[in-house]
Amino acid sequence: MNAAEITDVSLRPLFDRKRRLTREEYRQILTALPAGYCPFCDWSETQYVLREFDQWVWIVNKSAYWRFHTLVIPKRHFSSFFDSNPAEAVEYHQVGRYVTRMYQINHLEQAVLSHSRERYTSNGRLVHFHQHFAPESEGMLAPTLVPDANHWDPSVFIAETVLEH
Ligand SMILES: [Zn+2]
Repeated sequence: MNAAEITDVSLRPLFDRKRRLTREEYRQILTALPAGYCPFCDWSETQYVLREFDQWVWIVNKSAYWRFHTLVIPKRHFSSFFDSNPAEAVEYHQVGRYVTRMYQINHLEQAVLSHSRERYTSNGRLVHFHQHFAPESEGMLAPTLVPDANHWDPSVFIAETVLEH
């Protein structure tokens, strides 16, 4: 499925590549997407691209959490970085260095926040891997901080668990 096949006019803002969306607008758009459609796979139609690489694309987050919030996404759809192939993994390091350098050149103290979630989107597809980049700022992670985060349960991650690999 591509952009031309999507006729729902409420989804039009998604295909205005430079349009910025509030979190609520973006949530509504994602909820209304046709089953299986992934806006990141359709990045050339939906995203404001800062730089295209062979395997990856550096884009502006259309619905930013912070100022100068950008994303690095693979061209191929996978959810976990550990599902990247060797060519993607090799280039990822170059892309990360490039993006980091761009933040430095622009005098932005940058925080790299990795999100790699094996969860399904509302239209029934595993999320498309996306690496967040943003300038570090006081309190930027405050909504994610949990009061009892330092509580540790020693019965999890027990050493005798045998893992297949
Ligand atoms: Zn995708």
